[in-house]
Amino acid sequence: MKIAIGGFFHESNSFNPIITDEKDFIVFHKEEIFSNADSYIMAKGIIEYFEKYPDYEILPTIFAKAVPNGLISKEYYIYLKEKFFEYIRSYGKLDAIVLALHGSMRIVDIGDAEGDLLSDLRKIYPDIPIICGLDMHATITNKMTSNANAFVGFKTAPHIDVYETGEKAAEICRLTLENKLDLQMGLAKLPIMIAGEKSETDSEPMRSLISELKEYEKNDEILAASYLLGFPWADSEDNGVTTLVVTKGNKQKASEVAIKLSGMFKKKSSEFNFSVPSYEPEKALKIALDQSEKLTFLSDSGDNPTAGSTGDNTTMLKLLINEKERILSLNKNILVAGIYDTKAINYCSDHIGETISITVCGFYDTMNCTPVELTGKVIKNWGPFSSDMVLFSTEIFELIIVSKHIGFTDVTMFEAMDIDYINKDLIVVKLGYLTDPFKKIANTSILALTKGCTNELLSDLPYENKDEYVFV
Ligand SMILES: [Zn+2]
Repeated sequence: MKIAIGGFFHESNSFNPIITDEKDFIVFHKEEIFSNADSYIMAKGIIEYFEKYPDYEILPTIFAKAVPNGLISKEYYIYLKEKFFEYIRSYGKLDAIVLALHGSMRIVDIGDAEGDLLSDLRKIYPDIPIICGLDMHATITNKMTSNANAFVGFKTAPHIDVYETGEKAAEICRLTLENKLDLQMGLAKLPIMIAGEKSETDSEPMRSLISELKEYEKNDEILAASYLLGFPWADSEDNGVTTLVVTKGNKQKASEVAIKLSGMFKKKSSEFNFSVPSYEPEKALKIALDQSEKLTFLSDSGDNPTAGSTGDNTTMLKLLINEKERILSLNKNILVAGIYDTKAINYCSDHIGETISITVCGFYDTMNCTPVELTGKVIKNWGPFSSDMVLFSTEIFELIIVSKHIGFTDVTMFEAMDIDYINKDLIVVKLGYLTDPFKKIANTSILALTKGCTNELLSDLPYENKDEYVFV
């Protein structure tokens, strides 16, 4: 069996004016994916599944991914798409195609990338199964569902079943080919907009909803049942929660189960809430400073680069400056991780060890903040990590400045910079819910509801068709 595989993975935030392009992407061409599969975990799941079956030949095309950010440039997307089609055509006749997609990738002037890609793919391969793994935050469009045979999404948030979702997509493909299945999808859509910070799968109601999906998947006729929550920080007419069920051939059953699961979701929609205490920013900082025990994490949730925000919002820096007297009198040891400003990092790099004044950020997110002036000592420039990083020490806090739009998700960054993070009183982090490495070391976790491109108060965002959504 000849199986072509490929992947495009980006969550595109339409409220962020940054255009994502070549410099932001990591791309693996053809066989490169085999030695780099640890950098594209869903691909790894697909590859390692098929490797167990010697009759299956894995034919890799292109795998491209980038940290969530603003929309992707049309030119660069077209380049990636042309490479994908060049490679896939080079393999001749295929038996099936399995793709590792995000589902909320958006392109300037095009919109829905996955729909665009799948509809072009279907024109060339009208008769073979096209099966896709998706992120839980996929935005399902008609163009996607009418041009593929099956989708299966992550069942965890934070996403720790990425590998298993790749395996599952590959398994659906193998079962389809070996049993000559006529896959059928059923779906039901709810106009519900929900932030990731209210839908962690360790908390209710998501925990119960996901266990219902798993129960249905035990049914012999059902190959996959998924809740695709949409991506609220993109103004797309297709946004909202989609329930999607794939059966071995029973269209009616797929639709019935999708409607039933969708009804359960709707019934529980009033139960969604933040899993950690959340406050408007001033209050959140005050409460964080009141904590007597180390280590408190304060999430600057309105500027979360891992959900595509700019990473250059200065709101929390200004609030910290306003609290200067209190911070000094309490002798608080504070780290801010971090801020994205290429210009500032270049300037700092010329002044290592010196005390200087710099103006940082507020360059991209002009809607919600303005630049801020800081005076401090440039401790050191580290690199390469996934970005150059400077540690800038002011009287009030230490600040990590980065040269690339990256997420702050792991202690390895702090370790690479020799930061004694365990002994900080407070770490202000540009993130929403904490990642597992941070959860492990956090004594207290607080969400600051800052205004930015990933504003958690979704009803405050300037959606064009706001009246059509229900915000939970
Ligand atoms: Zn996601």
